[in-house]
Amino acid sequence: MAATRYGELRDQIFRQSFPNIYAPAILRDADSQYHPLPISERLVQCIWYDQRLTAGLTTTDGRPVAVIFPGWWNLEAGPDFHHATVKVGDDPEVTGAIEVHLRAEDWMHHGHARDPLYDNVVLHVVLWEAGSQTLQRTRLGDAIPQIVLQNQLAAPIEQLYDEIDLDAYPHNVGNHAGRCAATLADLPDSEVATLLDSAGDERFAGKTRRFARWIQRLGPEQAFYEGWMEALGYKANKTAFRTLAQRLPITESENARSAAIFFGVAGFLPIKQTDAYGKRLWKSWWKLRPDYADRQLPKETWRLTGIRPANHPHRRLGAAVALLKRHPNLADKVIAAIESDGDPAKLFLQVRDDYWQHHFTLGGQPQAKPQELIGATRAAEIVANIVLPFVAAHEPRLASQVKDRYAALRPASDNAIVRLAGEQLFAKAAVANRHVKTTRQQQGLIQIFQDFCLNDKSACRLCQFPELVRRWASGD
Ligand code: SF4
Repeated sequence: MAATRYGELRDQIFRQSFPNIYAPAILRDADSQYHPLPISERLVQCIWYDQRLTAGLTTTDGRPVAVIFPGWWNLEAGPDFHHATVKVGDDPEVTGAIEVHLRAEDWMHHGHARDPLYDNVVLHVVLWEAGSQTLQRTRLGDAIPQIVLQNQLAAPIEQLYDEIDLDAYPHNVGNHAGRCAATLADLPDSEVATLLDSAGDERFAGKTRRFARWIQRLGPEQAFYEGWMEALGYKANKTAFRTLAQRLPITESENARSAAIFFGVAGFLPIKQTDAYGKRLWKSWWKLRPDYADRQLPKETWRLTGIRPANHPHRRLGAAVALLKRHPNLADKVIAAIESDGDPAKLFLQVRDDYWQHHFTLGGQPQAKPQELIGATRAAEIVANIVLPFVAAHEPRLASQVKDRYAALRPASDNAIVRLAGEQLFAKAAVANRHVKTTRQQQGLIQIFQDFCLNDKSACRLCQFPELVRRWASGD
């Protein structure tokens, strides 16, 4: 069948817009006609993930490569695979990241040589030979061993293209479970549940101990404030939000809670493209600026790219200011909510701000439909990870109420770690979902992943978690 008009236009646009991601078309004979195959980096990632490669891989400088573990597929910023274990030539086995490209020079084109996220890449995997004579280097100057797959594929690229279902990766393909999956599969469901509960309690106890240390050092209000600010920073800007909370402590006067001071100290002012709200902030801030000069955060503190618009730090900071205005004594209110059997999540859900309900960024395009500043999912996560451990640490008399709340919380929405941990331990996301019925069990899964998977450098071979499961089953 001849290519559709849409297909032609798509290929044309992709080739113009992403010359480094979409290769020049590979031609093949099909129905006596030549059709272009859009070979993408994603296809090469799938090939690497499933190791559809010949035995006896070699680097471009002729050294043998043994792939002990191809790595965990990374769907976030940074290299394509994390935690891979490879052995190159006579060098010792190493565990680190793998980056995949169509051509060697894409490493430079994509700016990885300057990016700290790529510092621990241990192998550069490229499909085609072009430019592969030069070894790429990390930001730290380390030369990265490189392999070209072109002549080391298990089947011709056209065949792999036909056989691989790109949509299924990485979550709906089998064969990527860890060594413990078989041991866990033999454990009765009730035992899996109590094991996850117990690991979840361990994680909760760790968070409670952390809050107890903060409370001792900072006092309860500041400790709680730093905790929820950190949570509003999500993963990418946790440290930035916490630092901001330290630079603008909760004990300072009402003034310190003005949006101008928060946005100014955060380093977000002035903003080039602005609106009436941005102008108002700047008008207040430029006068106050000298008083806060030593507190201002440098621009590099923030990660502003690769983030969902609704989670942009501008918007989250707008939510933080609104929360402080709405509940200046939030720590007391969450304790009262636990004590009276109320719902502490409501305190976070009640936050309103006309500007930030309609904007993702300062001076950005207004959104027609208002959006909650802190949604139900985030509020539930704040309750599980911040409110309950804080109350447990600060008010031991409420320990049993806290424990009951924690045990009853429904699992939080799936995140990348939960998905990956589920697939590693239970082989399939569906099996993991069957076992993980509460936040407590989900936290248990994350705890096991952090204790064992993240510390394992042997691609499961030396991991002691299967032994832990065996002892759990036998009651040792
Ligand atoms: S590292 Fe350990 S806990 Fe993680 S998947 Fe492998 S065997 Fe399981």
